[in-house]
Amino acid sequence: MKAPYAPAQSAQAEPAANDARNAIELSPIPLAPDHTFINLSHINTWVFDLDNTLYPADCDLWPKIDQRITAFMINLFGLDGLSSRALQKYYYRRYGTTLRGLMDDHAVSADDFLSFVHDIDRSSLLPNLPLAAAIAALPGRKLILTNGSRDHAQLTAEALGLSAMFEDIFDIVDAELVPKPERATYERFLNKHAVDPKTSAMFEDIERNLVIPHQKGMMTALVVPRPGQNDHRESFEIATSQALPHVDYVTSDLEKFLRDIVGALGSARPDGE
Ligand SMILES: [Mg+2]
Repeated sequence: MKAPYAPAQSAQAEPAANDARNAIELSPIPLAPDHTFINLSHINTWVFDLDNTLYPADCDLWPKIDQRITAFMINLFGLDGLSSRALQKYYYRRYGTTLRGLMDDHAVSADDFLSFVHDIDRSSLLPNLPLAAAIAALPGRKLILTNGSRDHAQLTAEALGLSAMFEDIFDIVDAELVPKPERATYERFLNKHAVDPKTSAMFEDIERNLVIPHQKGMMTALVVPRPGQNDHRESFEIATSQALPHVDYVTSDLEKFLRDIVGALGSARPDGE
């Protein structure tokens, strides 16, 4: 049986009635008092989603992108904001990304869309040196797997002081514009970077994006908002089930989670290094 991880603060957080954020943090995985990790010493590749995983869920970056997508659709269809917003969310839910829906139904240029929606002010992002150190301390390769564009990932990682930590970025163009959670996207990623899923870990803020990684044998970790943080996820993206069998670990503190992994790996070595 797995010995799951849960941050201490999760155990201490007061569950708020009707608060789905707390529900997902407290419910899917039993809390382990000792944060025990098992079977991590075989992991040699660490794969990270970008948006709302490598930067805090309550920073203003994702809302800016979200608003740019709405603006793109207002320009495209000549609809009012509310109608554009509704259509955007319909596409997102049905196709996995708004872009996919616009491409399939309206032959929108992916380049035009991606350059427009990622043309945002990132000045609110500050370098996250503790997270950079925690990622650097992980033994092995580190890669970004994002449904966004390479430029967006590069600029965002640079703003966070994280770009030097990653070997490469696999973006939506590398994925031939097929977004996570489609199986083909993960298979293209694994093939392109010669990653063995059975010796890899995946970090994500959207739980449905962990289904295929788990099926393929990756260790999976769901990064959720801290209690009280704004929640960027759509309502259908917030798990309500008590059981998330494809999620091995849940954390609301990625940096601490990674430091705990490194600590567990170090203490597991027979020579104590
Ligand atoms: Mg994300």
